[in-house]
Amino acid sequence: MSEASEGLSYECVRCSAKVATEELKLRGGGIKCTFCGYRILRKVRPPVIKRVSAE
Ligand SMILES: [Zn+2]
Repeated sequence: MSEASEGLSYECVRCSAKVATEELKLRGGGIKCTFCGYRILRKVRPPVIKRVSAE
């Protein structure tokens, strides 16, 4: 069950930088902008890619 974290990223409300969840994990798991150090980030989801299945 790794769906929840994969593809999810955060956006800093201060500098609008995109911070990937993976990067936060590498830095200890804390929520913090990797660019400016601001601690308020909002979750952003990548655009949903609709798959057309023939099945
Ligand atoms: Zn920032």
